[in-house]
Amino acid sequence: MKHGNISIFVPHNGCPHQCSFCNQRSITGVVHQPDEEDVDKAVEQALSSRKKYDYEIAFFGGSFTAIERDYMISLLQAAYKYVENKTVRGIRISTRPDAIDDEVMSVLKRYGVDAVELGAQSMCDDVLLMNQRGHTAEDVRTASSLIKKYGISLGLQMMTGLFGSSEEKDILTAKKIIELKPDTVRIYPTVTLGKTMLGELYENGRYKPQELSESVNLCALLLKMFSENNIEVIRLGLHYSEELEKSMLFNNYHPAFKELCESRIMLDEFVKIISEGNFQKGSLLKVSVNPSSVSKFVGQKKSNIIKIKEMGFDVKIVQDRNLSAYELSVV
Ligand code: SF4
Repeated sequence: MKHGNISIFVPHNGCPHQCSFCNQRSITGVVHQPDEEDVDKAVEQALSSRKKYDYEIAFFGGSFTAIERDYMISLLQAAYKYVENKTVRGIRISTRPDAIDDEVMSVLKRYGVDAVELGAQSMCDDVLLMNQRGHTAEDVRTASSLIKKYGISLGLQMMTGLFGSSEEKDILTAKKIIELKPDTVRIYPTVTLGKTMLGELYENGRYKPQELSESVNLCALLLKMFSENNIEVIRLGLHYSEELEKSMLFNNYHPAFKELCESRIMLDEFVKIISEGNFQKGSLLKVSVNPSSVSKFVGQKKSNIIKIKEMGFDVKIVQDRNLSAYELSVV
């Protein structure tokens, strides 16, 4: 059965920081602080859907383990009864690397939390400092090993294009994250929002956001790096919301960002094969791809097919289940 999250947003509650990029109410569109009843309602609503999923209850959006302890436990208790009666598989939370210690981990373990996602954002201390994250790369390493010690699935989130970062630093961050062997990764290209420090830096010319095309090139590379290390990227790019769209100061956001990156990987792969082989321009090439990757190879609005035509080739796409997601065979 397909995995599904019953997502409950706990916006900004208890967060002692104001990271440069964060205007959390804009990201989630949620200002309400959920309580036990909201957990019940979210589960009921998910179960009433005709589609059946292997569910986890997911507390996202804030610094879950930094919120007021009684409140955190009330939410966990509300969720845990659904783990106990096997309505859901487990509970997933997201939090800050410096809000994890043995005591917190034993509370999470007691209430059936089976996955913890840490907002690492960068593994370069200068970038973390410039973006007022309030933790270090070492905090990410310490928290990651503690989460693994408790037998809980580790997720790491990173951002690209932050203030003071660069392609090299973002690639280095991905390498350092791979060393930590997380089970899952989320990559969020920075979106510049109003009423944030980053927004001010952008408006006074001190911060230059990445263009969408630069961001696609970089994230395609990161996606491939994680894939080659068997680390699943479960999210690439922020979820769309009207509030997000309204708050953006610079338009480098795309709602189907992961697809753009995957198409880029496929095009790069095609170009590499063509440049290494002896293919005559004007010929019809048979390109085999995994059935799940046909649309990735074609690209949005046939963008890859158009580029391949411009390179002088026509292609016939053939499906081959033996190929992995980003693999191509060209004859
Ligand atoms: S720690 Fe998370 S919730 Fe708090 S300001 Fe930073 S990004 Fe926002």
